[in-house]
Amino acid sequence: MHEKKGKKQEEPKQKLTSLEELGEFGLIDRLTTPFRTKNPTTVMGVGDDAAVIDTGTGTDGACPVHTVCLVSTDLLVEGIHFDRTYTPLKHLGYKAVVVNVSDIAAMNGIPQQITVSIAVSSWFSAEALEEIYAGIRLACEKYHIDLVGGDTSSSTSGLIISVTVIGTAPKEEIVYRSGAHPGDLICVTGDLGSAYIGLLLLEREKKVFQANPGMQPELTGFDYQIGRFLKPEARTDIRSLLQGIGVRPTSMIDISDGLASEVLHLCNQSDAGCRIYEEKIPIDPHTREIAMEFKIIPSVAALSGGEDYELLFTIPQSDYEKIRDVAGISIIGHMTVPAEGKFMITPDGKEVEITAQGWKAF
Ligand code: ADP
Ligand code: MG
Repeated sequence: MHEKKGKKQEEPKQKLTSLEELGEFGLIDRLTTPFRTKNPTTVMGVGDDAAVIDTGTGTDGACPVHTVCLVSTDLLVEGIHFDRTYTPLKHLGYKAVVVNVSDIAAMNGIPQQITVSIAVSSWFSAEALEEIYAGIRLACEKYHIDLVGGDTSSSTSGLIISVTVIGTAPKEEIVYRSGAHPGDLICVTGDLGSAYIGLLLLEREKKVFQANPGMQPELTGFDYQIGRFLKPEARTDIRSLLQGIGVRPTSMIDISDGLASEVLHLCNQSDAGCRIYEEKIPIDPHTREIAMEFKIIPSVAALSGGEDYELLFTIPQSDYEKIRDVAGISIIGHMTVPAEGKFMITPDGKEVEITAQGWKAF
């Protein structure tokens, strides 16, 4: 067919999908589903807190043990994950390691090594980077891990830190997100929501300071909340605590995006529903008070806040007696059959459907 001169042939318009409408998890799904793992050493690929790689059978003294290697990586981007106006660089280095170590703890593994990659603007000084590395070193000492490599690049837009952590565990001790059964009890370590309240306090003082640079930030009395946000810890202690009382979680995840998002991950990957009880969600009393001052329902800070880096796990109902009186572990509900849905029960008995309102990545 001849086109008239000067008239352009119309190209079919392809509708492009915005990252916003996909969301973080939708995007990861879309990008990674075309991949099929082909190596038998890949035990677990995309979809859990860490990948699981088979390293074969070794020995522990006289006993043969089948160990696996765990790998996880996390990226911290200036302006997205941290704000340098109130994040001390040493804390930033520490947190960059902790958030990775937390993913190994969530698999019931033992962290061993990290690699650290940084991209940095040229106006950064070597001393500033040394501060970050002082924090990284502190975390390496605390969690007994070795820095074994990384990469360094310049950046045109602020600071980016990517940490990869490598861990190990006997194969049969690995706990996946997918192992929960209807009836299992849902447990959480520590308390939730304080990191988010810490972030709100820091943001509030930043605004006050911007409006009136002569004013000093008023952060005394909020050490716990601010500490939870700026210098979180990974719950590597839970592995031995649970082993000590003879409890093996059926599923586990770390709480980086908020309780709601993580409990939904356990439900979806275990093909189960859940009931969690609002009054059972552990929240620090002072955090409750501050949340109310911010006109935030405290449980919402726990459900949707994120960055607490506690562990959420399920155990068989038969282990109830073993865990009931353990300090620092709360039973907040139970798993159900999928048809019963995913609900939170309020103190007055209302059933509220759990939806993920975690950090919006885009
Ligand atoms: P977490 O919150 O535990 O760090 P994420 O939600 O970041 O986990 O990631 C979920 C899963 O998707 C993990 O298995 C992770 O390795 C994988 N993943 C995330 N981003 C990508 C990516 N860009 N390419 C491949 N896999 C990814
Ligand atoms: Mg995780």
